[in-house]
Amino acid sequence: MKYRKEPELTGRIVLPDDPLYNSARQEYNTFFNKFPLVIVFAKETQDVINAIRWARYNGVPLRMRSGRHNYEGVSALNGGLIIDVSEMKQLEINRKQGTVTLQTGLRNFEIIEQLGSQGLVVPPGLCPTPGIAGVTSGGGHSSLSRPWGLVIDNLLEAELVDADGCVLHASADRNADLFWALRGGGGGNFGVCTSFCFRTHKIDTVAYASINWELEDLKPVLKVWQEYTLPDADNRFTPLLSIISGAQSFLLAQGVFLGSAEELRELLCPLLRSGSPNHVFIEEIPWVEAAPVLAGPSPVTRSRLKASGLM
Ligand SMILES: Cc1cc2nc3c(=O)[nH]c(=O)nc-3n(C[C@H](O)[C@H](O)[C@H](O)COP(=O)(O)OP(=O)(O)OC[C@H]3O[C@@H](n4cnc5c(N)ncnc54)[C@H](O)[C@@H]3O)c2cc1C
Repeated sequence: MKYRKEPELTGRIVLPDDPLYNSARQEYNTFFNKFPLVIVFAKETQDVINAIRWARYNGVPLRMRSGRHNYEGVSALNGGLIIDVSEMKQLEINRKQGTVTLQTGLRNFEIIEQLGSQGLVVPPGLCPTPGIAGVTSGGGHSSLSRPWGLVIDNLLEAELVDADGCVLHASADRNADLFWALRGGGGGNFGVCTSFCFRTHKIDTVAYASINWELEDLKPVLKVWQEYTLPDADNRFTPLLSIISGAQSFLLAQGVFLGSAEELRELLCPLLRSGSPNHVFIEEIPWVEAAPVLAGPSPVTRSRLKASGLM
């Protein structure tokens, strides 16, 4: 590269002649095929600072990246620098304060597993592989959103590196305007987020429901199913409805309930009477087992997608 070395890039640096370049540059969405000038896999916040300063010094455009799951491929670019935080994965639980501080390279399921083994959860994304930086910046919807809100509703503080290469902390008390902006508009806009502090919730066994119908039952099922999403519906239950398409297409309602299986079965009576369910499963199971089952229909390997294309 004909770029000045100072300030120097640090971390794991991948250049176009590196055998790992192809896998390092690819986004989850295979519609996009970008060729960056250099990719920095940051190991610590200082690597992010150095990368931003290097890019500004050399006038090189940059993008930031965590789990690579952006639908429109905006975390990659041609001829510029990608700052990738996916190798920053530390996680520290503070039981006394009921919080967890974690680095932004962690993916949804890495967080579910690490917290779940301690009987804790931050309402995570539903799908296993998106990165927590992008999920949180955009809101973060999950199978626990009705009782505990979006991922972002549980964010207490963010650490980020701004465009000058300075480390900032944003919370309700510090840089409150930045904190407000980060919660919904933060993806790639205000700085590179390096860590988040979240409120944790205690979780152990949950009631889990899974009900299948033939696609012909869509109309009556949808009519009743949407009642469970209304503001006055029991918010201990977060309902999901998917059309599973393939050789054998079917309708799948799933959900987690923070209560007993008996209560959930009673709550679901109107849904069970809609159409002709083929298969009904309503049991109490550990949350760490429910999460992967719920994620079952989600694609985890790289694929071509538009948001609406998943439906
Ligand atoms: C298969 C699939 C399943 C999904 N499932 C869910 C789900 O269950 N729930 C849900 O709410 N959403 C879901 N999403 C949407 C997902 O939350 C968004 O696409 C999210 O932006 C992905 O974040 P990422 O870090 O993986 O992606 P990236 O492409 O790495 O980043 C996404 C955006 O955030 C920016 N960004 C990345 N890292 C940082 C950082 N460290 N600091 C600041 N900005 C950064 C990027 O520049 C880009 O603008 C899913 C998407 C896919 C493709």
